[in-house]
Amino acid sequence: MRTKLIAGNWKMHKTIGEAVALIDALHAALPTIPADRQVIVCPTFTALAAVAARPHGAIGIGAQNVYPESHGAYTGEIAPGMLTDIGCSHVIIGHSERRAIFGETDAFIAQKAAAALAAGLTPIICVGETKQERESGRAEAVVLGQVAGSLAGLSDRLADVVIAYEPVWAIGTGLTATAADAQTMHAAIRGELRRIGGAAADVVRIQYGGSVKPDNVDELMAQPDIDGALVGGAALVAESFARIANYK
Ligand code: PEP
Repeated sequence: MRTKLIAGNWKMHKTIGEAVALIDALHAALPTIPADRQVIVCPTFTALAAVAARPHGAIGIGAQNVYPESHGAYTGEIAPGMLTDIGCSHVIIGHSERRAIFGETDAFIAQKAAAALAAGLTPIICVGETKQERESGRAEAVVLGQVAGSLAGLSDRLADVVIAYEPVWAIGTGLTATAADAQTMHAAIRGELRRIGGAAADVVRIQYGGSVKPDNVDELMAQPDIDGALVGGAALVAESFARIANYK
């Protein structure tokens, strides 16, 4: 039985004051978390310390990015150990916005995942096809290629990573993959994980992301290979993220 992971990606939103108000509202709305799921939020770097310092509830903390070196002359970057130091347990890696806007490659993402794992962080490695790739029938090949490339050299660490399948056309658009289409891709991803790492594939959590909302979360979470959600827009409103975390 895989523990589902519900993660809120706050992206580049919320000042420190706004972030504190949101985490306080979430702690109030989710005082306890059922044992079958884990809930985390991923604020901006500038708000991490303030969010981590709030009276602790059951909600964990992750970061949205990391650099694959422990220290050094990397102006503007953040090391894995700095994230654990501030209280993070997870880090999102290779989000489609980082791939598209900042040119992150599978190889760089694999380096980041390795560095995160070495520091004791759980990497949430994002994969997903564009609209054009889906319409040309290449969605599965693209996604499985990203899975293999982003896990290069990590076949013995599979059990410690999380994969987030996020079709790019569904992120922030209000469009969602149907639960059946998402399940088909998740099963294909698990097949690829099995090819890479054998039986460990069965313990890897594969989140779905892309316009997850209170009104579609229950059906998505009921699919056998969907092990949680990576939530953007709906994670910025306490009431909707709490409802998503309380999926039935
Ligand atoms: C995301 O940021 O990873 C995401 C899935 O965003 P949204 O839920 O807004 O589509």
